[in-house]
Amino acid sequence: MATNRARTAGRHFLQIPGPSPIPDRVLRAMDMPIIDHRGPEFGQLARRVLDGVKTIFKTKKPVIIFPSSGTGAWEAALVNTLSPGDSVLMFETGQFGTLWKNMATKLGLNPIFIESDWRTGADPKAIEAKLREDKEHKIKAVAVLHNETSTGCVSHPAEIRKAIDAAGHPALLLVDTISSLASIDYQHDEWGVDVTVGGAQKGLMLPPGVSFNAVSDKAVAVSKNSKLPKSFWSWEDMLATNKNNYFPYTPATNILYGLAESIDMLHEEGLDNVFARHDRLAEATRRAVRAWGLEILCRNPHHYSSTITAILLPEGHNADRFREVALDHFDISYGMGLGKIAGKVFRIGHLGDTNDATIIGALAATEMSLGLAGIPHKKGGVQAAMDYLVSEAQKPARSAAE
Ligand SMILES: *Cc1c(COP(=O)(O)O)cnc(C)c1O
Repeated sequence: MATNRARTAGRHFLQIPGPSPIPDRVLRAMDMPIIDHRGPEFGQLARRVLDGVKTIFKTKKPVIIFPSSGTGAWEAALVNTLSPGDSVLMFETGQFGTLWKNMATKLGLNPIFIESDWRTGADPKAIEAKLREDKEHKIKAVAVLHNETSTGCVSHPAEIRKAIDAAGHPALLLVDTISSLASIDYQHDEWGVDVTVGGAQKGLMLPPGVSFNAVSDKAVAVSKNSKLPKSFWSWEDMLATNKNNYFPYTPATNILYGLAESIDMLHEEGLDNVFARHDRLAEATRRAVRAWGLEILCRNPHHYSSTITAILLPEGHNADRFREVALDHFDISYGMGLGKIAGKVFRIGHLGDTNDATIIGALAATEMSLGLAGIPHKKGGVQAAMDYLVSEAQKPARSAAE
């Protein structure tokens, strides 16, 4: 909402990298009377989402659904697989990588943190080197983020799996996909991931309130001997009751209706088309940023994110003030700079229910706001993005539903 007006017409441009805008179809699907979560109607809904969500993680193994924000699924991944004092190899990709590491410390684990400059993804070579040094196999898990939401840098779980195997190390691989799932291709089984952490409110286009752990056979086997305390987050009761289409405690029933709808929508569009759309919107955004003469925070194209682009403002210009100007005049919200890049960057989310025209609207609001806020830049960013989207639109269309 603009701060200086009573009402702002039209839809707010929610360009934060999650929560992302919720499609009307999902809102309608959730607009249901609450049902008995131990009754037969719920059983059908549970089966539908427990099976359906596997197609999004690309796994044949169980996916556990918690009634929580993504942070809960982070905790579940750690407490179900690890014991007090275990070493966990983690990577400082940015603020979320740091928060997960801090959580590991609070839980009594011993995180080994590979430091980085917040401008690239996890380096598989550095991970392999640390694992090779660990002759006694004290490291029980490697935990990385598929997409670091604070910086707009992806890491590549398949490369990290190869690094673990090349080192001949038995550590589990835990991957956070909270801001990439259903937006950037992800393959839990194929890539040999042991626990995949997911969330509702980013690529899945849902309100905040459910989170996920996709679990490998190895992760489930290891969980039987893990000694960190767990009760609410325990996989054991979840896996047992999910088999019979129920949950051990009250699930987020209405969000599950939304989840069933969002899974259907993703398959109607076709997952490959969804990923291509995200790649396209991200590339359009980067072209605009370059044309403005501003700097993309992620400095390595191999690690560019297709869900969020973080943009560095020139020295001496405050990104939070820029965000205020944009919200005030054009009713658009960006992600703020977090942690050590607070005030230095703003982040454009281009994930979930977003299309070419939406991103052009967002980029136009951005270009106008750069001018209003007195940020030195060149004009023509929106034009560069439009030229790119037109060239992509002229390519032959892919086939639709799967
Ligand atoms: C949003 C996010 C989280 C935290 O999720 P919450 O739902 O806010 O608890 C963790 N990791 C990543 C990569 C995220 O984008």
